[in-house]
Amino acid sequence: MSSTAIAERVVRAACPHDCPDTCAMRVTVAEDRVIRIQGDPDHPPTHGALCTKVSRYAERVEHPERVLYPMKRSGPKGSGQFERVSWDEALGDIARRLQAIAARNPQAVLPYSYAGTMGLLQGEAMAARFFHKLGASLLDRTICASAGAAGLQATYGGKLGMHLEQFAGSKLIVIWGSNSIASNLHFWTFAQQAKRAGAKLWCIDPRRSETADKCHRHLALKPGTDGALALSLMHELITRGWLDADYIERHVEGWPELRERALQWPPERAAQVCGVPADDIRELARDYGTTQPAAIRLNYGMQRVRGGGNAVRLVALLPCLTGAWRHPSGGMLLSASSWFLRAIDHAALQRPDLLAGRRPRTINMSTIGDDLLREGSEAFGPKIEAVVVYNSNPVAVAPESRKVVQGFAREDLFTVVLEHFMTDTADHADYVLPATTQLEHLDLHTSYGHTYVLLNQPALSPRGEAKPNTQIFRELAARMGYDDACFFDTDEALARQALKPGIAYEALQAHGWQKLPLPDAPFAEGGFLTPSGKADARGADHLPNHECAESTPALAAQYPLAMISPPARHFLNSTFVNVKSLRSIEGEPLVEIHPDDAAPRGIATGMLVRVFNDRGSYRCKAEVSTRARPGVVNGLGIWWRKFGVDGTNVNELTHQQLTDLGRAPSFYDCLVQVAADAPATSVAPAVA
Ligand code: SF4
Repeated sequence: MSSTAIAERVVRAACPHDCPDTCAMRVTVAEDRVIRIQGDPDHPPTHGALCTKVSRYAERVEHPERVLYPMKRSGPKGSGQFERVSWDEALGDIARRLQAIAARNPQAVLPYSYAGTMGLLQGEAMAARFFHKLGASLLDRTICASAGAAGLQATYGGKLGMHLEQFAGSKLIVIWGSNSIASNLHFWTFAQQAKRAGAKLWCIDPRRSETADKCHRHLALKPGTDGALALSLMHELITRGWLDADYIERHVEGWPELRERALQWPPERAAQVCGVPADDIRELARDYGTTQPAAIRLNYGMQRVRGGGNAVRLVALLPCLTGAWRHPSGGMLLSASSWFLRAIDHAALQRPDLLAGRRPRTINMSTIGDDLLREGSEAFGPKIEAVVVYNSNPVAVAPESRKVVQGFAREDLFTVVLEHFMTDTADHADYVLPATTQLEHLDLHTSYGHTYVLLNQPALSPRGEAKPNTQIFRELAARMGYDDACFFDTDEALARQALKPGIAYEALQAHGWQKLPLPDAPFAEGGFLTPSGKADARGADHLPNHECAESTPALAAQYPLAMISPPARHFLNSTFVNVKSLRSIEGEPLVEIHPDDAAPRGIATGMLVRVFNDRGSYRCKAEVSTRARPGVVNGLGIWWRKFGVDGTNVNELTHQQLTDLGRAPSFYDCLVQVAADAPATSVAPAVA
């Protein structure tokens, strides 16, 4: 604490956002205001630095448009017209309406949540208890990562990978499907250290991202062809003699069959499929096969296609074939989440026992557009009558928005949204309940990009009448008459219940974080979590293969461009879009288009264009740029619809078809056409 006239104190916190870095933060406060937000210099993954987005977190907390009071709809659905009501009125009415629906069939109530906060307490703790007790439909949380998760599960037996810090010692780093500078900044710092020490960096990404600019080599493959590339790399490893036969023999299951399959993928074949030169594939294979330690930083962009799960399986097998896992700085990292099963007791938090033998149906969050429009049936179960949304903004982020909007606009749907701001989804609510931000509540964090448990301690008092999600569900439970002892647990009690022996709450309070006790090279001697203990090429009951998107020549002729929708650098999914300073850096919703695709369409930078397909049309500004590869346009996201020219965003064009594994959306298998719409003009929306 400083000795200035105004007493300052430093609070240990954690970044809550859907980002693999899960930074440890130090928040300096005085008189209930933030003085500074900094990265914890002692936390090895954070090493003192936060990204631009979260350095401005105070701007978000004190935002003049924050929802600070319970609000009840006073106009038509979607109009955004609300009036302030008391907590008592809001919770009383919500409980009455949920009880009435539950009396008919509790499965007609659907919770809808994702990673608006990654916190375990403000995520699925008291909320999960509440919905389990109610017997509500379960939610399959697939929207971002479940194809890759299924691929890792099949291959390694869990979401397991390298330690983040070990990338600093790698001699070759393949950054695959990731714009690390924008969305995995702290990995990038370690990759830069490796680069300065002589490591070669490859970037594999359809988009020439800011990260690709800074790597030695960039392979701009077509979206959805990563599995073909991985098979071809295997082909080269086999034919050039770059395999670690001993590691394969002892630690890989199903190699003889996979070997036969890989031999069908010479670089010329993959080059045709991937749209890259065969010699580039050979060069990458040579680098990968002859450099140790070699590491792959895979990220989730590449699995948002129909064959995403199989593609992850194939990439995950590469370090098993070269024995890269023998080294602490070799192997692969897509997700480290399953390491935390040693530290966190999710059942203690979520209490599935409250279902008391009931087995509610499961709704896939990625098909919410279709499911909100479904009538009740024997196959589907009851029509969805109520949705309680927390930590998510489905109207902006779920695929095929036209249907999602139509569903949330149903007059007979009762919608409750726990939020910080009037998002596109909150606009469609019957009640919006003010939730606290990360600086106003307690939470416990794991990470999918590193191996530390963190505690977020509240730095500020709740703004207005905002309450933590835990408290909102606690009070709602009381009004529903739920008197099980678990509904009276405080947030600290929840955190303590979640921690397994080995991670002490007091230690987290004092230091902010604790590293999981894991070996530096976790698979140096095999020990994968599959049933055989080996990396498994047969893990999903079949050999992995390159799976293409479903298309027809007629469709490809009508919509000849592929569209991917990676995150804009200063947004995080749909979070931060309403922070003016960040939005002004991003400018306006735009689509990047290659000069070869722009010229025949008469498109120039700054022009308003229409991007369209059978599902819808999205107008935005064009940026003619070699950041897009020929044949692919990049619709940077995810803008709130209300900031779009026509009140739409890229998800007007995406579809609800699911991936090969993991039931995830294949956002990046999206064919479109682009046409000039108007001369250069500002497309700044009416809502500023
Ligand atoms: S968004 Fe990511 S990089 Fe930024 S502070 Fe949070 S965890 Fe760190």
